[in-house]
Amino acid sequence: MERNCLFCKIVAGEIPAKIVASNELAIAFNDISPVAPTHLLVIPKAHYENVSELTREDGASLLALLSLAGEVAAGVDFRLVFNSGAGVGQSVFHAHGHLLAGRDFAWPPG
Ligand code: 5GP
Ligand code: ZN
Repeated sequence: MERNCLFCKIVAGEIPAKIVASNELAIAFNDISPVAPTHLLVIPKAHYENVSELTREDGASLLALLSLAGEVAAGVDFRLVFNSGAGVGQSVFHAHGHLLAGRDFAWPPG
């Protein structure tokens, strides 16, 4: 656990969140400020700054994250977005995918 990391605190139960699913290495919880009818954050339980570091360091947690996203979204169309870096909008530096569903989405994304 990384001190002062918001999502590590959610994993540890120190900050409340609506957790909708979990497995051994990943959890999915509702985004506090949803931009779609379904907006979950799917994160590794272990701390990695972004998806690149997660991929490099811990393939098992990456696979667990993707598996969980697929299970939660089973049967519906969805978009899974990883912002990696402040320049593209990452604001919490614990790797997370935004799992979005329930409305139409433009392509290319804005
Ligand atoms: P990013 O901008 O880093 O890609 O996404 C961070 C996300 O975390 C945002 O969508 C934001 O709404 C969400 N978020 C920020 N603080 C909290 C919180 O305390 N609880 C939950 N559930 N989501 C949060
Ligand atoms: Zn963290």
